[in-house]
Amino acid sequence: MATKLVSLFAICRLIMTVGLTLDPAELLRVGMDGQGQLSVDASEVETASVDFGGMKRAKPLAVYLPGSAEDIARLVQAAYESAHGFTVSARGHGHSINGQAQTSNGVVVQMSSSEGTRLGSGKPAGPRVYDKLMYVDVWGGELWIDVLKSTLKHGLAPKSWTDYLYLSVGGTLSNAGISGQAFNHGPQISNVHELDVVTGKGELRTCSERQNPELFHAVLGGLGQFGIITSARIALEPAPQRVRWIRVLYSNFSAFTHDQEYLISLHGQAAALKFDYVEGFVIVDEGLINNWRSSFFSPHNPVKISSLGADGNGGVLYCLEITKNYDDSNADTIDQEVEDLLKKLNYIPASVFTTDLPYVDFLDRVHKAELKLRSKGLWDVPHPWLNLFVPKSRISDFDEGVFKGILGNKTSGPILIYPMNKNKMAHSHLLKDQIFVTVKAKSDGIDGPRGKILVSGDHPTGPIDGMVALCPLLQRTVIPKEHMPWDERSSTVTPDEDVFYLVALLRSALENGEETQTLEYLSNQNHQILRFCDEAGIGIKQYLPHYTTQKEWMDHFGEKWSKFYTRKMDFDPRHILATGQRIFKPSF
Ligand code: FAD
Repeated sequence: MATKLVSLFAICRLIMTVGLTLDPAELLRVGMDGQGQLSVDASEVETASVDFGGMKRAKPLAVYLPGSAEDIARLVQAAYESAHGFTVSARGHGHSINGQAQTSNGVVVQMSSSEGTRLGSGKPAGPRVYDKLMYVDVWGGELWIDVLKSTLKHGLAPKSWTDYLYLSVGGTLSNAGISGQAFNHGPQISNVHELDVVTGKGELRTCSERQNPELFHAVLGGLGQFGIITSARIALEPAPQRVRWIRVLYSNFSAFTHDQEYLISLHGQAAALKFDYVEGFVIVDEGLINNWRSSFFSPHNPVKISSLGADGNGGVLYCLEITKNYDDSNADTIDQEVEDLLKKLNYIPASVFTTDLPYVDFLDRVHKAELKLRSKGLWDVPHPWLNLFVPKSRISDFDEGVFKGILGNKTSGPILIYPMNKNKMAHSHLLKDQIFVTVKAKSDGIDGPRGKILVSGDHPTGPIDGMVALCPLLQRTVIPKEHMPWDERSSTVTPDEDVFYLVALLRSALENGEETQTLEYLSNQNHQILRFCDEAGIGIKQYLPHYTTQKEWMDHFGEKWSKFYTRKMDFDPRHILATGQRIFKPSF
């Protein structure tokens, strides 16, 4: 009852504040049913007005604290059916850069509860682990760190991660969710069995490969445009106990990328013959190497760039970062396994840095860096981040133009670089002259094992919609889903090449720093990088994309735009959801 009184009070204040833009009866219905709460509390509204990027601010009319998926469905339905209309934006942990979870003419649904935020009084249930079936059902606003803690109690863990775990499940699944495991398991969106989603019409639907597949694929990587993820069923694997974490340095970019690409090509090998995680970063700034994510090197073994031969290379060094998981079953062989793998790489011989730690500490490594930065007042600063997918064929042009060119020797934050593979079919499985093409749904009937299509792997029901290899005799091999970690049917956009790199410029701007550390300088540099890529025809795609006009969004989605648009009309026809992405304007 107390909850309802608070909500009623909030609604009255809201109606007084915004006058006739919202229909009081609709809001009363939303605020008084269920266990969610509509709040106009100043601090809750303030939290929903900002994000990690710290560059955009939009004040919502109210914040909704849901107690259940049904609460969210009621809110969205009210917005959809409202004569006046209002927008609804889900906010996970608010770790967007450019206001993607904000809205100024509607309600923010606070999906995650953590410091400074809370949920409605019904509070959705925590993760539920099905250990025999190897999956976990989680609330869409659950933070990955809490998913990990719950599954570890059963000796299990999700397979694919982000570098930082204080992000919500719904937030990362709305993009892709990538880290150094992606070459092996695909992005997080490829490790989801099922979702519960509230569409822009206020319908609560379960979707998967088999049930409402169009909604399922639309929502994965869908930037919040098609529905609010209220629950996700995530694939699990046995959790390793410990991690051997290794960094080696290169001064030669092509030796570095050659080794990274070699390591990700081992994905199909037995566990002992490959690493479990492959990432890397670029060091253009001596100060950085012993800093933040690089704190690994110090204090016991501080590194001097000049001692490692980078001088003849424009002062740039590249660090390959790899890990190998282990537990009691292979504790005796881990040293040998690592040594055998390292033998095949061409890094600077004296530059091997190794540490060993529990699995959970490795996965949660960026949080430690966060605490350090917080203590120095360097966490809540503007973050003009730029995340790009760069096709493999142009990564050396990117190196020349950006790392050794535009950046100079100051970056104001780590620069990650690592490759991922769109399909995991070993190239040795292909015949000479075979190429990969994408087949449209239903365009390929299976005519039998000879002559037309050779099916391998387990294809359940429905159309064959995936990558096929075409041989000159028109004999085809359909590549099973588990070999396609980046499913073309999702909404995520990647470059038009089988292997592509993530390049993440993770910068922090300082108000009173040097000129090269200011927000204006770093933002201009981001534009310069994008212009360079455009003029050089590098064919990058932004990850965590940010555009302000529909024309730019159409270019971003390219061939996928018409499908993206049709899905929007089907699932959110009034353009109510996630307007902070600035893809569609609300139609009221
Ligand atoms: P929010 O910022 O709250 O929301 C992001 C978007 O998703 C908004 O449009 C919002 O409306 C929508 N949304 C949120 N919840 C839902 C939901 N339940 N249903 C539907 N839509 C929803 N990404 C990686 O892939 N790999 C990394 O290693 C990585 N590391 C990061 C490290 C840091 C320190 C930070 C700040 C970000 C990192 N990211 C990484 C990016 C991150 O994955 C995205 O910014 C993600 O969207 C953040 O999740 P969030 O819960 O904070 O989302």
